[in-house]
Amino acid sequence: MPVQRRSILGLDLLQLEEFLIGLKQPKYRARQIFSWIYQKQVRDFSLMTDLSGELRKILQENFTCFDLLAEKESKSEDGTEKFLLKLYDANFVEAVSIPAVERTTGCISSQVGCKFACKFCASGALGFKRDLSVGEMLSEALFLKSHCAKRELTHIVFMGTGEPLDNYDNVLKAVRMINAPYGMNIGARRITISTCGIPPAIRKLAQEGLQIELSISLHAADDKKRSSLMPINKKYPLADLFSACKEYIEKTNRQITFEYILIKGLNSDLQSALNLSKILNTLKLAKVNLIPANPVDPALARKGWMEPPNKLEILMFKDKLIKSGVNVTLRRPRGADIEAACGQLRLRHAQKEE
Ligand code: SF4
Repeated sequence: MPVQRRSILGLDLLQLEEFLIGLKQPKYRARQIFSWIYQKQVRDFSLMTDLSGELRKILQENFTCFDLLAEKESKSEDGTEKFLLKLYDANFVEAVSIPAVERTTGCISSQVGCKFACKFCASGALGFKRDLSVGEMLSEALFLKSHCAKRELTHIVFMGTGEPLDNYDNVLKAVRMINAPYGMNIGARRITISTCGIPPAIRKLAQEGLQIELSISLHAADDKKRSSLMPINKKYPLADLFSACKEYIEKTNRQITFEYILIKGLNSDLQSALNLSKILNTLKLAKVNLIPANPVDPALARKGWMEPPNKLEILMFKDKLIKSGVNVTLRRPRGADIEAACGQLRLRHAQKEE
């Protein structure tokens, strides 16, 4: 009976070394194999020419090396590229590359769908199907790396479909491989986990000894509004979330970035700015990214999806925060013309299939 092949991307260095030792191969071969995969971008074991023919054959028989196929891609006028990627079980996830002056960021998904049903997010609209494996997430990162070959992929954010801290162990293993010198060798400070805010997982993350960036979707500074946008807030209200944030900062001495989508008529007035400054000023190291809402689709907008406030309102909101001592940046929405907001391409694809 043929051996059931598994993804070699799901193995860390120790696991691959153990596999090789079992074959009576020297363990340094593990680093050679990873160098072919992660640095030279070779996905065919038969092309790994510094390995013996026999070892290449064994690898071929036991492992796959890449776990997805590009189904659709679209490129924005601002250079943002979005990919719909097909998984082995015909599920789809999205990955996005976002070029900027001195960096290229790869945004990857951590789950097929999402349980958390945030109102502003297209991913929640399709519900949750399953977690992504370590190999699938690394395949997304490697896909983006090879796709932007002319520009170095410098940053990775877990900000695509899914809640990364709800797939904690797999995401952490993928993070360590993206960071490892024998893996993708991307500095920890260039890797961001973006979460809707799950206090027990934030506390656990604080203990991992990682220098990664943590970003939390906040979007409202009072429980009523936040619960209306993000159902997770009913389970973990702001007091719980900020208590975990304080512990995280205490333990890691790392700044937390809060994402705040500015939504017309909901959270973009000056009282909301004041509430936001008060809550952020309770933390020693925090900053906020203001992101004007990116309407998903005229049809969804008619159903009550979000619209951005006008420019004056945005600037007044930002100014109020600055005057209250908050560290703030205003982000341009990227890839609006190609449905680059979270989950939109997958949502559109699923709607076509229905
Ligand atoms: S914003 Fe994140 S946590 Fe919320 S529904 Fe979308 S993918 Fe899930």
